[in-house]
Amino acid sequence: MSEVKAYAAPKQSADLEPKTIERREVTENDVAIDILFCGVCHSDIHQVQNDWGGSRYPVVPGHEIVGRVSKVGKNVSKFKEGDLVGVGCMVDSCQTCDTCKKDLEQFCENGATMTYNSEDKHLGGHTFGGYSQKVVVDKEFVLSVPENLDPAAAAPLLCAGITTFSPLNHWGIKKGDKVGVIGLGGLGHMGIKFSHAMGAETVMITTSESKKEDAKRLGADAVLISKEDDAMKKHAGSFDFLLNTIPVGHDVNPYLQLLKVDATMVMVGAIEPLEPMHGGNLIMGRKRIAGSLIGGIKETQEMLDFCGEHDITCDIEMIKMDEINEAFSRVKSNDVKYRFVIDMESLK
Ligand SMILES: [Zn+2]
Ligand SMILES: [Zn+2]
Repeated sequence: MSEVKAYAAPKQSADLEPKTIERREVTENDVAIDILFCGVCHSDIHQVQNDWGGSRYPVVPGHEIVGRVSKVGKNVSKFKEGDLVGVGCMVDSCQTCDTCKKDLEQFCENGATMTYNSEDKHLGGHTFGGYSQKVVVDKEFVLSVPENLDPAAAAPLLCAGITTFSPLNHWGIKKGDKVGVIGLGGLGHMGIKFSHAMGAETVMITTSESKKEDAKRLGADAVLISKEDDAMKKHAGSFDFLLNTIPVGHDVNPYLQLLKVDATMVMVGAIEPLEPMHGGNLIMGRKRIAGSLIGGIKETQEMLDFCGEHDITCDIEMIKMDEINEAFSRVKSNDVKYRFVIDMESLK
């Protein structure tokens, strides 16, 4: 085992502070990674606050990891020392159930091992995430990061990127489709970039007029202000697909009215109760509402390769490790464009 520096929340809702943690020795199937950058996801805050229940302390958050391989086990042929790699929300799964065999490890029937706050099958206790200097991960859960991408700006692709790419990819978004991305935050800004790169006519749907310019800069063809009834009516029944990134419970009814017959709205943000939905908004037009959670490992690699081809990364603000508590407060007040990334050099 090796001791590495990390940042942890010692108890519920506590500030993060320096902590030394242990990483396992590299087994034959493992890849050891020196972490260069780690994105700050809103889930990190939810876990520290135990918003979803089941948090185990100390929590070392971080599941948007980019780093360089420092060592590989003897069964590892896909990676070698020095490779630029990424680790997202999962570090293991059973790899044998039907769902895993369908490359949907995020829904593993035996429970995927999440990058932090899951049972650690090797060391006991629970897993620690990317707010640390190093991590050791099973080779099947390590991703190749294209070398042409800025590694810092690529880090949030591992969660925010795959969360928005997967539904657009799964529902086959293509040139000629009209796609609405609802909500402009860490997820929404990636949704716009992907939808635009897939060739769809991309409409940013937001409550705030002030986000118009930025949405267009990110690739939106148009901006629809959801508070403007006339504008909403004009777009009614016109969307092939809606990607709903709003992170809190809200009224989905006005958005369902924007969908064409047989079209789908996919929820990726709100893991909490939604306001009541009127059945008529689904029945009239055979519409669908669906959900999506990150993506499997195969699709995450496809997403990274797509980003390499289209030169897509996240818009980030770099911070030092000891600025994390301030960054958490700013994420909570939605004051970041559009993702904080920790420069892990600052943890030395
Ligand atoms: Zn995340
Ligand atoms: Zn499984």
